[in-house]
Amino acid sequence: QRIVVRDLASRLGVSAAELIKQLMKQNVMATITQEIPFEVATAVAENLGFTVQRPKSAEERFLEAKKSEASQQAGKLEPRPPVVTIMGHVDHGKTTLLDVIRKSRVAAEEYGGITQHIGAYQVEVQGRRITFLDTPGHEAFTSMRARGAQVTDIAVLVVAADDGVMPQTVEAIHHARAAGVPIIVAINKVDKPGASPDRVKQQLAEHELVAEEWGGDTVMVPVSALRKQGIDELLEMILLVADLRELKAPVDQPAQGVVIEAQLDRGRGPVATVLVKEGTLKVGDPVIVGAVPGRVRALLDDRGRPLQEAGPSTPAVVLGLSDVPQPGDSLMVTPDEETARRIAQERLEKQRAEQLRPTARMTLETLSKMAAEGETRTLPIVLKADVQGSLEALQAALQQASTPQVQVNVIHAAVGGITEADVSLASASNAIIIGFNVRPDANARRLAERDRVDVRTYRIIYEAIDDVKAAMQGMLKPRL
Ligand code: GDP
Repeated sequence: QRIVVRDLASRLGVSAAELIKQLMKQNVMATITQEIPFEVATAVAENLGFTVQRPKSAEERFLEAKKSEASQQAGKLEPRPPVVTIMGHVDHGKTTLLDVIRKSRVAAEEYGGITQHIGAYQVEVQGRRITFLDTPGHEAFTSMRARGAQVTDIAVLVVAADDGVMPQTVEAIHHARAAGVPIIVAINKVDKPGASPDRVKQQLAEHELVAEEWGGDTVMVPVSALRKQGIDELLEMILLVADLRELKAPVDQPAQGVVIEAQLDRGRGPVATVLVKEGTLKVGDPVIVGAVPGRVRALLDDRGRPLQEAGPSTPAVVLGLSDVPQPGDSLMVTPDEETARRIAQERLEKQRAEQLRPTARMTLETLSKMAAEGETRTLPIVLKADVQGSLEALQAALQQASTPQVQVNVIHAAVGGITEADVSLASASNAIIIGFNVRPDANARRLAERDRVDVRTYRIIYEAIDDVKAAMQGMLKPRL
């Protein structure tokens, strides 16, 4: 938020000359027609004896309205399906188990219908539903949490009966515990000759997971994902543990949810899988997802079938967003698209302000020159890629490229083309932009030229890394 000096003067009832004098006291040189930031205006007004009340942001107004609405209809909670994450050591059978559960529950007439990986799926057990997140492992689970999104209600810990408790088994236990998520143990591969479920129970007891039959309170189910044994029992136990937790959510209100996965689809544009946490998401709803506004154009289930709406604990693919959000971003239905756009704008400005550090314009060339002269500094990078996998690989490699002289700092990494928002973020943060298999759109290119933001696009990961490394060593070759 900014205000023109003349407008501020007239609002405060002082002359523009007086105001400019006050500004100079704050070391701000501004002419009568220039804009000054809200913070500066506040400081000056307070110096002149005014009390300043910041106008409420669109997001604040929206949240307040939502809160008062919620309190009016409190108590209308309905049971919702549990959301389950499968964790465990590598090769203990997480993926096999997820596949078997999914296939075992697809009705015959739907068999052969194409299942699509959307990050989550739902199965029906005894007329009730269970939602499985199908990216197994505690890394995804915890990175979502780190972003403030906890979606998992129950963790199923897979332990191979022939291999026993391994390092990642223990890690998974700790991660689930830190999140306060109850654990059900699936003792897998009981068909194998060397299988010893009792030894697994013994080892788990050392980590304070004591089986019920041993007097503890942890449900442990022997299964064989390969032979499809024990699967029904495991699913029943999940429902049982879910009942103990009395999982409930309001259904009849605007939806709130969390992004599980998101990518840019060539034909359909930005595509996000959202797990609804509360309320009901409907086609046509205006939404704000992270800092991305949109309107739900279509909802699809995990078999690509259109949905009219999605209630609590239901995963749904959302089409109609204006950009690709990030996993862990929250989704909120807003009263109208205008509110969504305003909140998006505010969030982007906030992100930008947080990263604002005014210094000389950064390019790989200037970095290279500074490095050659022995200067120390950080290199902020905005990273965009076509798919999540390359994004993560590139981000990890770039961060590892840090030297004592130059610290690489990836301030934004996301799937999708390079947009105007990326360029203004880079511009405000003095960052360079690296695009992998993506290009800037016309608006982004224009803004980059205007603000002289260094945008580099690559089709080969190591070429990107080589350029950055060369610049950091002061040896970047000039671009042809
Ligand atoms: P993940 O790394 O935990 O996802 O493990 P996978 O699901 O990829 O399984 C690793 C290997 O164990 C694969 O070769 C599976 O076929 C095998 N496997 C999984 N479940 C069982 C089981 O119940 N019995 C046996 N004998 N092998 C299994």
